[in-house]
Amino acid sequence: MKTDSHSHSIFSPDGHIPISEMAKRAIEANGSYLAVTDHCDRDVLQEGNNAPDGWGQLELAAYFEEYKKVKHEISQKENKDFYLAFGIEAGYDEAASKDYVEIIKQYPFDVVINSVHFVEGYDVYFPMIFDKYPKDRAYTLYLEKVLKSLDVEYRYDIVGHIGYCTRNASYPDPVMHYGEFEELLEKILKKIIEKGKTLEVNTHHALCPNREILEKYYAFGGRKISFGSDAHRGDVYKDYDETVALLKGIGFKGFTYFIKGQENFAPFN
Ligand SMILES: [Zn+2]
Ligand SMILES: [Zn+2]
Repeated sequence: MKTDSHSHSIFSPDGHIPISEMAKRAIEANGSYLAVTDHCDRDVLQEGNNAPDGWGQLELAAYFEEYKKVKHEISQKENKDFYLAFGIEAGYDEAASKDYVEIIKQYPFDVVINSVHFVEGYDVYFPMIFDKYPKDRAYTLYLEKVLKSLDVEYRYDIVGHIGYCTRNASYPDPVMHYGEFEELLEKILKKIIEKGKTLEVNTHHALCPNREILEKYYAFGGRKISFGSDAHRGDVYKDYDETVALLKGIGFKGFTYFIKGQENFAPFN
């Protein structure tokens, strides 16, 4: 069964596709499970964080209504085996934690992804931080924040895209080599395992975290991984087969996915 636990609809400021169309594409791709996890960015509301111009907040009530509408439409069709899940990608910032506690209490999320986007006020998708700091410093700051994010007081299920800061990094060698950041990465991976959380395998850009980091996670005993296309334009299940082949090569046996916060396991074929 094909699962995708991370995708964005038009309810995200950078999303382009309505939920109904995403569900349609997932079904066409023979998917069994797709989680819509629009950006819930209470991090950008915190002092000092500079969001891109016009970056709006997720309208949760409208988002939930639209999800329910599409879910109902699907249930009327012949797609009984397909599960459309309701989730958010929470943009971590310590100061936003209280907001997330409330939001996550208020809505019946199938899945919550906790992701670090901001480091020292910069969204590390954009080049500002790379102009300010050398690679070692920028990635260390990012990983320190990821480590902190694992201890939040709100419920989350999946640790989003570790290595996000490498997506557009302008360094000659932007790869997050395990050996260069071993101390922090080891702490992060072991803590994810200890806490029973799921590590996301994100295919939006280059594989994130990279193979080397996934191998270490496996070697430490980590078995819970989720697939995340992080689709913003309907490209759900992006690079699914290649990614499964790579993960099998490491030793993983399947993907974890969440329904009403409950963990499920979908073995690879
Ligand atoms: Zn993200
Ligand atoms: Zn995302």
